[in-house]
Order: sequence, then structure tokens, then C-alpha cells
Amino acid sequence: MNKDHITAIKTLIKAPKNIIIVTHKNPDGDAIGSSLGLYHYLKKYNHNVSVITPNDYPDFLKWVPGEDTILKYDAQTEVSTALISKADIIFTLDFNAFHRSGQMESVLEANGAIKILIDHHQKPDDYATYMYSDVTMSSTCEMVYHFIEMLDDIDKIDTATATCIYLGIMTDTGSFRFPVTTSTTHRIIASLIDKGVDKTAVHNNVYDTNSYNRLQLLGCALNNLKVIPELRTAYITLSQSELHKYNYKKGDTEGVVNYALSLKNIIFAAIFIEDRQENIVKISLRSKGNFSVNEFSRAHFNGGGHNNAAGGKSSLPLNATVEKFIGILPAYKEALHNE
Ligand code: 5GP
Ligand code: MN
Repeated sequence: MNKDHITAIKTLIKAPKNIIIVTHKNPDGDAIGSSLGLYHYLKKYNHNVSVITPNDYPDFLKWVPGEDTILKYDAQTEVSTALISKADIIFTLDFNAFHRSGQMESVLEANGAIKILIDHHQKPDDYATYMYSDVTMSSTCEMVYHFIEMLDDIDKIDTATATCIYLGIMTDTGSFRFPVTTSTTHRIIASLIDKGVDKTAVHNNVYDTNSYNRLQLLGCALNNLKVIPELRTAYITLSQSELHKYNYKKGDTEGVVNYALSLKNIIFAAIFIEDRQENIVKISLRSKGNFSVNEFSRAHFNGGGHNNAAGGKSSLPLNATVEKFIGILPAYKEALHNE
């Protein structure tokens, strides 16, 4: 972020304002962590701050400090819309195009408040008054830390803020192992622990709260795993009836695609999840090395994300979606073998 913008934001946040923080649909750990981390920080300046998510998020995020204050736009539309219409500043975190905010898209687009974007996804849209976009960053949470640092306010990070930031760095880096994790990421993590983060509790809350149904669903997903060794690709499907059988709850399929990617010699993995309610198949793509699933998803599945983790969707039925995927793959044979 350039110095003039930092100076402008410093001036802006000196006096109390109406501030809204929004994040993307189906919020993950980084979306919730960055939004609430920023929320706790801005509260120190006595702003009137609200976090609004487009919709609900998984139970494994329902312990984060301040989580009980979050408004869900789809369920609390009226109160959310009223707050957004009064906003002086809107922060958009962990996404970079309004269509990623679900039903909030048109409300955000029409709003004239100062917009501050903090995000690490590729190809940001040009809507922000102040844009802090960096695709080399591990997570939006890491960027929130840097943002607070640029404002010379590291001393304002308390245990609650630190816990939120720790959460999103942890989830977006696969617990500090993905290539986006740098020595700086680890130095930030160290400083967050010094601020009092109970790291064991954060890990337990996110990863060790499986339900029996969720593990059964994982078993079903692993049974459905298919491998195309000559294209170094593996994929998983989950139909609506399978989800129903194991009493699927939001978040239950989080991370399942990584099992496909964990196979020896596999560098490209996908999961196709049928969603009859929205009439789409939700797709998660993961890769190792230089094979860009962001580009693959943009080109074929109306999505995007990062080089090694992206999402997309298909309006074809589940089987036809998988057939389409298999049909496209041979065109990438060389790219998949150059890894
Ligand atoms: P996931 O597969 O875990 O849903 O998402 C992986 C990454 O891709 C995340 O950073 C997420 O924000 C992004 N992503 C997921 N779905 C979409 C989509 O439909 N469009 C775009 N542009 N990004 C997505
Ligand atoms: Mn993120």
C-alpha cells in the first residue's frame, strides 16, 4: 500500500466513524479471522463497527472472539442493509470482486462509502478507494497484521485480535506448510503467540471438533476417489444424496479435496459437490507446483482463486460436470507433466 494512502487512512480512522467489514460468501477461517481481527482493532478507536457476512459459516468457526456479533446478510437483510447505507467506510476482506459477496453484490456496488480492499486473490476488480492487494501473501489475515503495522499500531493488537489473525493464517497456509508460508509469516505467528494466543485451543477448535457423521462422509468421499495417473490428477465426487445420508452440515467437506492431492505423484486434485438447492455443482481445485488452478477454473468453471487453490462452479448435472472435467484434462497433459 502506498504511503499517501496509509497517511490518508490514518487520518480517516482517527475520529469515530460508521464502519462495515464484509467478506466473501461461505466464509472460511481467513475470511472470519481477518474480519474479526480488523473489527477488534478498529474498536480501539471507538468506531461503530459491524462485521457482515453474506451467509452462515461452519460451526468450527463459532468460537472466534467477537463471532457472536456477526450479522448474516441472507438471514438479517433488513438490519444489515440499514447499517450498510449509513456506512462511512466499507472494508472488503478476502475477496476482490462484488459477485463473491453473494446477495450483497448490488448493495455494495451501489454504496458510495469509502471502500478499502484488503485481499490476496488474483485479478482484483477496480472498485476500492484504497486497495491493498498482494497475491504473494499467505492470507488476508497476514495482510491485516501488515496493515495494522503500516498504521504504526502493533501495540493495539490484543489477545482477541491476535487470535483472529492467527486463525486465518493457520487455515489458509494448511497449518503453516503451503508454499505461501514465509519466514515473515512465522515471525508474525511468533509475535501473535507473544500477544497471548492459545495456539493449542485454536487448532483444537478448528480441527478436532469432527462429528461422527462428518467422518462417515469423509469415508464416503474417499470411497468415491478416482485417479487418472497418466494425467497426475485425482478427483472426488459427493452427490446430494450422499451429503444427505451423512446429515451434511456447512464445513463438513472443508479440506476433503486435500486427500486427493496427498496421493503420491498426483499434482492436480478436484472435488465436485452437488448442491441441488442452488442448482450447481461446487468445485474445489488444488494443485502442487506451477500448475495454476486459478487459470484452469477461470477458463472452464466460472471461478478463480490462487495458483494452488481455487474454486468454481458448474450448472451441468454432477456426472456431466465430471465428464466435462475429464474431457478438458488431456489439453493440459504437458503442463501436468512439466511439474
Ligand atoms: P475453496 O475451494 O476452498 O472453496 O476455495 C479456494 C480458494 O478459491 C479460496 O481462496 C476462495 O476464496 C476461492 N474461490 C472459491 N470459489 C470461488 C469462485 O467461485 N470464484 C472465485 N473467483 N474464487 C473462488
Ligand atoms: Mn484467504
